[in-house]
Amino acid sequence: MSEKQVNTTYEYAIDLDKNDELSSYREEFYLNEKKIYLDGNSLGLLSKRAEKSLMDILQSWRDYGIDGWTEGEHPWFYLSERLGASMAALVGANTNEVIVTGSTTSNLHQLLATFFQPNEQKNKILTDELSFPTDVYAMQSQLKLHGYNPKTHLIKVKSGDGHLLKEEDIIEAMTADVALIVLPSILYRSGQILDLKRLTEEAHKREIIIGFDLCHSIGAIPHQLSESNVDFAFWCNYKHLNGGPGTVGALYVNHTHFGKAPGLAGWFSSKKQHQFDMAHELIHEHHAGAFQMGTPHVLSVAPLIGSLAMFNEVGINNIRRKSLRLTGYMLDLIDHELKEYEFIVRNPREDKMRGGHIFLEHPEAARICKALKAEGVVPDFRSPNGIRLAPVALYNSFEDIWTTIQKLKRIMAEQTYKKFENKRGVIA
Ligand SMILES: *Cc1c(COP(=O)(O)O)cnc(C)c1O
Repeated sequence: MSEKQVNTTYEYAIDLDKNDELSSYREEFYLNEKKIYLDGNSLGLLSKRAEKSLMDILQSWRDYGIDGWTEGEHPWFYLSERLGASMAALVGANTNEVIVTGSTTSNLHQLLATFFQPNEQKNKILTDELSFPTDVYAMQSQLKLHGYNPKTHLIKVKSGDGHLLKEEDIIEAMTADVALIVLPSILYRSGQILDLKRLTEEAHKREIIIGFDLCHSIGAIPHQLSESNVDFAFWCNYKHLNGGPGTVGALYVNHTHFGKAPGLAGWFSSKKQHQFDMAHELIHEHHAGAFQMGTPHVLSVAPLIGSLAMFNEVGINNIRRKSLRLTGYMLDLIDHELKEYEFIVRNPREDKMRGGHIFLEHPEAARICKALKAEGVVPDFRSPNGIRLAPVALYNSFEDIWTTIQKLKRIMAEQTYKKFENKRGVIA
């Protein structure tokens, strides 16, 4: 690689912060002044707006009791639909193609139960060998429910280097026996972005239904789900979207599938005006709302109201622009300051292919992460030897990045990581 000019001074980091149009949003969050939080892609931080909307919902319970379902500023009965509509811009969907409900895992089960309709010719599910385990477990169990053996009917596209996928390989694996595909929009380890539009086009040419897990891309990069004709998508809202631990997830269903019956029905799949008829024949919605099941988790979803307001105010394109600058700056400093310490950058470097985080590999990763934590930097360890660093556009600064890399450099130079065991904790 040719030597790129990199300004490694502290003053330069401060300058970048001064010229950052989003810097004021940092004040909206509860940041621990003693820490640098780089784990927003596992659990985003609490914002004051999210806290307020949670308190507002609690207050509506206090004020209205049962009538809170239809009264107050955020009537609970319509909250899932309203939040879905306010998330639609983040995924490039029509407002009624998104519903806030369930979790990543339960939504994938719902979507597989709805869209995986195997027949003699088409009865396999295609995914990749780097997919998040919960997604794979869901696919395996849905195959079993249909009487298929996951060992023969779940096809996993291989990665050449254990970090990245080649879209050509995925397309080549779209054989005539594949009924449905589930892939990540951004790989949770390497942060690689897949081209959803291209993969969807290729899948549709072969009459294969295709859906994506957006857990690592929602709130980090823009999407064009409707325009790309993606059949379905699902995600959680506690990572880049800062909805809080265990907040409710969301799903998207393309409007061309409206009218399809939910594979897993419940009374919240009903058309709203019929739900309280209490009839035993379900009249399901003809939009994404049909894929809800039971009573929404109102208290868990409440922080999202405030958090989403912030995303809609800033706009996802502005968030993406700053995110790319943050990760680009971090890469420059890593290349320049850490070159003698055996780190391998595993995320793609091109803007078009790089998600919201940096993925470093090092044989001593587990204890380097512990040393970073002891120094007040919160990274994310991924077994066996990965360090994820996610600078988040709304609350991380260029100074955070500069300080992190300086700390990392010192940890390596002074070998302070050797004070720790090279083993992961229960949650890592
Ligand atoms: C975080 C994450 C999940 C988590 O699923 P939950 O049902 O919310 O626990 C699933 N898939 C991916 C790719 C993730 O990053």
